Parts: sequence; C-alpha cells; structure tokens
Amino acid sequence: MPARTCVIWGPEFTRYDFGDGHPMAPIRIDLTARLCESFGVFDGIEVIDPGVADDDLLATVHDRDYIAAVRRASEDPEHGADPARGLGTEDVPVFRGMHEASARLAAGTRIAAERVWTGATEHAVNFTGGMHHAMPDRASGFCVYNDVAIGIQWLLDQGVERVAYVDVDVHHGDGVEKIFWDDPRVLTCSVHQNGRTLFPGTGWPGDIGGAGAEGTALNVALPPGTTDSQWLRAIQSTVGQVVRDFAPQVLVTQHGCDSHMDDPLAHLAISVDAQRYAMDVLHRLAHEAAGGRWIAVGGGGDEVVQGVPRSWAHLGAGSRHEPIHVSTPTPQAWRDQVHELTDQDAPTRMGDLPPGEWPIWVQPWEMGYNPHSEVDRAIMATRQSVFPLHGMDPYFG
Ligand SMILES: [Zn+2]
Ligand SMILES: [Zn+2]
Repeated sequence: MPARTCVIWGPEFTRYDFGDGHPMAPIRIDLTARLCESFGVFDGIEVIDPGVADDDLLATVHDRDYIAAVRRASEDPEHGADPARGLGTEDVPVFRGMHEASARLAAGTRIAAERVWTGATEHAVNFTGGMHHAMPDRASGFCVYNDVAIGIQWLLDQGVERVAYVDVDVHHGDGVEKIFWDDPRVLTCSVHQNGRTLFPGTGWPGDIGGAGAEGTALNVALPPGTTDSQWLRAIQSTVGQVVRDFAPQVLVTQHGCDSHMDDPLAHLAISVDAQRYAMDVLHRLAHEAAGGRWIAVGGGGDEVVQGVPRSWAHLGAGSRHEPIHVSTPTPQAWRDQVHELTDQDAPTRMGDLPPGEWPIWVQPWEMGYNPHSEVDRAIMATRQSVFPLHGMDPYFG
C-alpha cells in the first residue's frame, strides 16, 4: 500500500519573492505552512524539500536561451531585464536568486510526479507550485518556470500515455495549455474568469486543442461575479465528464485560489468553502478516473491572509483523507502569528460562509439548462465545443 500523501515544502520556497508591493507575496505560503503545521497536516507524512531543478529538467519544457536569460537576470538583476522574454516587467520583476527560487518550484512538482507515478504515495501536494502562465520562451503573469508542465512532461517521458490537467485558478492556464496544445496525451481543462475581463485574455470555449489533438483542451470562460454554486456547476458539468471519458493514468490539478471573493486582482465571488468543495470533487475524480494517482499544486492567490492559507491547508488535509470542516476555528496560535507577521486579523474559522448557512447546493446539469443565465451559456458553449469530440451529448448527461 502506498502512503496516502506527501507534501512539498521547505522554508527556502519563500525566496520566490518579487519584492515589496508585488501582489504575490511569499508570506502567503509561509502562513499556509504554519496553518498546516498547527492543524497537524504535515504530521506523519513525508515533507519533501526538493532542492533546485537542473537545466536539463527545465529544458524539457523551456528553451535553453530563455533559461540562460533567467540565469543572467538572477545573477545580475540590475542589468538582467529582458522584456522580450517577460523578465523585468511589472508582473515579473527580476531579483537576485530568481533562477534558483523558480527552479525549486519546478523540482517540487517533478518530485511530486515521481512519488505518485512510482507508487511511493497515492497523492502529492505542492502548494508552492502551479506557475501555469510560464511559456517555453518567456515569463508571464508572476510565473518564471512552468513547474506544472515540467511535472507532466516528466510523466510523459516515463511512458505515461494519458495525463489530465484541471486548472481552477481564476486565470486561464495558458502556459500549460500552450505547451501541450498539439499533444493528444495531455488533456488540459481550465475553468476561469473570461479573457474579455481578465488576464491573460485567452481560454475561450472554441479553443479545443491543435491538429490531431482536438478535444484535449477544454476551456470554460466565466463572467465576472460568478458565485459558488455557479462555479461548482461549471466544473461539475464539464470537467468531470471529459476527464472520465479521457481515462487518464494520472490527474494533475491546479488550485490557484485567486477565485476568492476578496482577491484583489480578479472578480469572481468564490468562498473558501466552495474552493474546498472543488478540491473534494477533483480528489474524488482522481480516485474514480485515474486510479487515485493525484498531483495537486497551488497557483495564484493574492489575498495572502484571508484567502490563500485556509484554502491550501484544506488541500493538504483533504489529500490525507482527514478534511478540516469549514466550521472549525482557526488555531489561536496561528492567529497570533498572522497578527505578528502581517498586522492583520486572521480569519477565525476555516470557512467563509456564515455558520448555520445551508451547505452549498450545486444544481446538476441533468436538472436543466437555463439559457437566461450567463454562466449556463458559458458552460453550454464549452460542452458544445468539446463534448461531441468525446462522443458525448452537450445537452444531456
Ligand atoms: Zn491566477
Ligand atoms: Zn484520496
């Protein structure tokens, strides 16, 4: 029997730091790890500090010229800006040690993939990863090296024939999609706020994969303001069916939690409760459709106190099959640390919804399509584009 799960973590991950004023502050993963520790999420499991990926691993996805440019910027930030490669931009400022910090995330997701594929553990969580915007030849959207694509490519290089990737970050998972666009072995699914209203402006329902790989990209482009039950309906009415039909050997999921209602950079209205629900749905999907082989990574998330730590502590706890109920109070010791480190008041419970509120109810697609709902129209557009390529009916089932 494999161990249930492992987690990628070490204090050096906080070196992925674009500096003061950048929205993706490393305190977010520090507070996540502290919350995990205070709930015992790391107890009795392997916590892996993976070191730094070498260039040969990075080059399985990235151009050598780009890796060299990151190294130059990393060693000499003052002269390292290379805007054509996305380096030294507002989103991706260069900083000393950037190469090593970014390559560490990539090593983490690669080891997560190895643990799961070799059967050392059933699941693996790398909440420091999920850098889904990085392109083969350039940095983008806070992402330098695409750890997710590197992990998936590693699986393919071991002979894995089908990998499914599901990305519920509020932004389109454009880098991962692009890297595997023409590869029928990788199904990429992204459920995000639409590109008309949010970076990176891509990820439309008609984007279904390249020649010979049609139906292995799936995009749900949701309107701003999408709520918990609508968001979960979108995930459950598209991703579940297509992943089951694809029958992956491994499921990789990205849990960027910038869909959160308080996130400063995006406009969905999602609670931590619904994020936890989505994790549970995808975790169960891994057991039903991928033999339990599940690699879960983090991603975006810029509400560093109210959003990220609780969301990814739920991810870690869920991967142990010891979920934390949303009504559970956050530990006082953790709240004290939050106050000391950020001068902010920590959330007092592990969920956002008021106590006594009914659980989130997700209307199954079988109960009917509502053409007056903008969210339902977005779901339907995706189903119409992708379902027939899997021999499925977009209207029913
Ligand atoms: Zn994001
Ligand atoms: Zn499980």
